[in-house]
Amino acid sequence: MSTLAIYNPADGERITAVAADDAASVAVKAARARAAQPAWAARPLLERKDCIARFREGVVRDLEALAVTMTRETGKPIRMSRNELNGLLGRLDFFIGMVEPVIATETVYDEGGMNERIEHVPLGVVGNISAWNYPWFVGCNVIVPALLTGNAVLYKPSEYATLTGLEIARLLHEAGVPQDVFAVLVGAGPVGAALLEQKVDGLFFTGSYATGVRIAQTVGSRFMKLQLELGGKDPTYVCDDVDAKGAAESLADGAMYNTGQSCCSVERIYVHEKVHDAFLAAFVETVKGYKAGDPMSEDTYIGAITRSQQLDVLDAHVADAKAKGAVLHTGGHRLPGPGNWYAPTVFSNVNHDMELMREESFGPIIGIHKVSSDEEAVRLMNDTRYGLTAGVYTPDRDRAQRLLAQLNAGSLYWNCCDRVSPRLPWSGFGDSGIGLTLSTYGIQAFTRPRAWHLKAAG
Ligand code: NAD
Repeated sequence: MSTLAIYNPADGERITAVAADDAASVAVKAARARAAQPAWAARPLLERKDCIARFREGVVRDLEALAVTMTRETGKPIRMSRNELNGLLGRLDFFIGMVEPVIATETVYDEGGMNERIEHVPLGVVGNISAWNYPWFVGCNVIVPALLTGNAVLYKPSEYATLTGLEIARLLHEAGVPQDVFAVLVGAGPVGAALLEQKVDGLFFTGSYATGVRIAQTVGSRFMKLQLELGGKDPTYVCDDVDAKGAAESLADGAMYNTGQSCCSVERIYVHEKVHDAFLAAFVETVKGYKAGDPMSEDTYIGAITRSQQLDVLDAHVADAKAKGAVLHTGGHRLPGPGNWYAPTVFSNVNHDMELMREESFGPIIGIHKVSSDEEAVRLMNDTRYGLTAGVYTPDRDRAQRLLAQLNAGSLYWNCCDRVSPRLPWSGFGDSGIGLTLSTYGIQAFTRPRAWHLKAAG
């Protein structure tokens, strides 16, 4: 069997190597999952909920070690790794608490001897191909409701978060989920491609637009349930009536948290001309205060760039913006290695001819665009093929709601950003994807509704 080497992006050091899957082992795991799924689905829901509750206990017990593992393989600052794991607990509680009412059989008609019911049956075997940037969040958004609703799961963690994927498997198995009901597929793109060759009943993908398109093209003719959670170019508008400093501090965090490697990072900021200069000054000052360095240090805010290839994307966005007249206020270059590092970068005087304002940067880099009216802001915010989140900062709730209602995005934020709630659906408009996770809809997504027509004899 081949191996997958795991590197620490913060220093370039090889951490370890783990046994990797290949097409043959993927096929074996898929066949075992298929055989094991009916018995898992037949278990009382309470037993499946108990497994996830024990999984949660394992996460709490091992939290510090899990955070260190995630930080070492992704370069995420350790405090943010802890935040992700603590944030996961609320998601698990939501799923455990809501699964029963969501999948309960509903009687929708019962008259004259005719009874009509909707039953929610599991999809069967689902594949989950996942990303590295929030591996616990995006993995468990799929894995946990899929298991709770009676599916078997073939989980392909990102090759940049494999150790975390293996920890998820260890804790699920320790919690009582059978080995064959939850299987990890270790490897890079080719292992994901091998999963696509298997007969699965649902494919849930989190990752880039480019890979999402390839997956959709590969499985398109097979009529399986397909969900794609892809990237974004998320805009925020700062109105003329804000406290510029408060908005700047909040949005700098929204743009740079997790070193800008969040699907819902703020990637474009439009600022009314009346507050533009004050906002820009406060934003730059905030960003200059962010400490880059060893992700294991408690005071590190800017961690490593997880994938070295992304450094080229950031360089290209910077060069293109400079060439087209953007004004650089801080950063704009790599930081010295070893490892993959990029200085937090702020541009103003940007426009929509620049890649910086059109394509996902997925790093600590932002363009701040001056606008002269609400109408101009709305037009520019909607000038994108993506549509994951969008926000407005103003003390005026009516104004915010009027503006937000005009924006093409799956999540709308008033005076906040870069936020995900387990109670709300997480979905993208346009090229940000299809389908959704989280909320009660994100539990139902792992079932199919079946119609029962029951007519009493006589
Ligand atoms: P990626 O597309 O490079 O990889 C995602 C997964 O796909 C990995 O597991 C990878 O091994 C696998 N893969 C690669 N090629 C494949 C192929 N041909 N067939 C099958 N699988 C294949 O994305 P990434 O770098 O891991 O993640 C970053 C992207 O994910 C960003 O665009 C980010 O915005 C997006 N993202 C979106 C959300 C969301 O909820 N919308 C959440 C997190 C990340």
